[in-house]
Amino acid sequence: MKTLVVNCGSSSLKYQLFNMENETVMAKGLVDRIGQENASLKHDSVGIGRITIRSGIPDHSKAVSDMINALTDPEYGVLKSVDEIAAVGHRVVHGGEKFSDSVVIDNNVMAAVKDCVVYAPLHNPSNIMGIESCEKLCPGVPQVAVFDTAFHQTMPKHVYLYAIPYEYYEKHGVRRYGFHGTSHQFVANRAASLLKKPLKDLRMITAHLGNGCSITAIKDGKSLETSMGLTPLNGLMMGQRSGDIDPAVVAAMGDIEKLDANGIVAILNKKSGLLGVSGVSNDMRDIHKAADAGNERAQLALKMFCYRIRKYIGTYAASMNGLDVLVFTAGIGENDPYVREVACSNFDFLGIELDKKRNESPEKEKIISTDKSKVTVMVVPTNEELMIARETRRLVGNNSPKKAKK
Ligand code: AMP
Repeated sequence: MKTLVVNCGSSSLKYQLFNMENETVMAKGLVDRIGQENASLKHDSVGIGRITIRSGIPDHSKAVSDMINALTDPEYGVLKSVDEIAAVGHRVVHGGEKFSDSVVIDNNVMAAVKDCVVYAPLHNPSNIMGIESCEKLCPGVPQVAVFDTAFHQTMPKHVYLYAIPYEYYEKHGVRRYGFHGTSHQFVANRAASLLKKPLKDLRMITAHLGNGCSITAIKDGKSLETSMGLTPLNGLMMGQRSGDIDPAVVAAMGDIEKLDANGIVAILNKKSGLLGVSGVSNDMRDIHKAADAGNERAQLALKMFCYRIRKYIGTYAASMNGLDVLVFTAGIGENDPYVREVACSNFDFLGIELDKKRNESPEKEKIISTDKSKVTVMVVPTNEELMIARETRRLVGNNSPKKAKK
């Protein structure tokens, strides 16, 4: 079964084609800067070669058609025809309260995803365009939506509600939803399987530290709480997002900048976090370089970033009355031993003891705590695309059925 995974961002489209018989990647690619003059498609057919194509890519529909052309190209493609694609799995950022699981897409699902645009105006419209373009160009092929929010739908009401007038929740769905669910779920399952223990028996914290960062408490195999909220702005400090602030900061900054709330939220989303504090970059590698060279604001940004992770680990360990496993994942979580070391420091009362050598070893998937540490600390590379492909196969089965009736 060949499964195509599509992840549409506001101006990009990432894809991977999996052979689900052995879960290998046959081809992958990135269409970048959709709508701009310098748009390009970088395609990599495993074992055949890479190619970069520059052509006008005004919208997601053209991006999907260029992707299909690259996959089926007689010279560098991996498919004879689009008919070989058994199913397409789409990353959909916001599924609101309607979706606590992945789902085969039909007209009702599309209508519900459109209803969620209001919560994710930067993300859901691109996801919708990607789905509609794939439906046009791969007619009859089942399409599956895998939601970033779905894994966190198990949060109890007293955890996901904001302490604001109840009607904002009841009438307008204003509440914590959480994101990166596919990643948290993937690494949690993988960690449990590496430890040969059922996930439901472990009190686990998964820290997804990439350009976007979120951290999740998992108890009884379910998401109990996660740091992102109504939108992906809340929680940990991120590359360019502020994470937690006092909401009154929005009014104070609005007065200073003469901007409305949306203008300030844009600053909190795009000019804050590591970038805003350091004034250097949103990229952790640049922050390290600047901090090592003596840049005090970069040093401060690094300290704040690690402190916020520690604070959440402590909070979530308290919520779960203890902690068995702590997992680091994503760009920073997988590659930055310094951040892991500082985030895990001074946790004697919890029994976290890191092994310096293990933490700094080049292995990708590893236990980094000592053998006598009460908490097992691990690094587990995330693979959201594979998780989406697995979800798609789970829903569609090994043989592609006829497309869901509209
Ligand atoms: P992601 O969003 O998962 O791709 O992660 C992006 C973040 O990972 C950026 O802040 C990168 O600087 C960071 N990153 C990638 N490689 C490393 C590394 N070797 N050391 C520290 N940070 C890294």
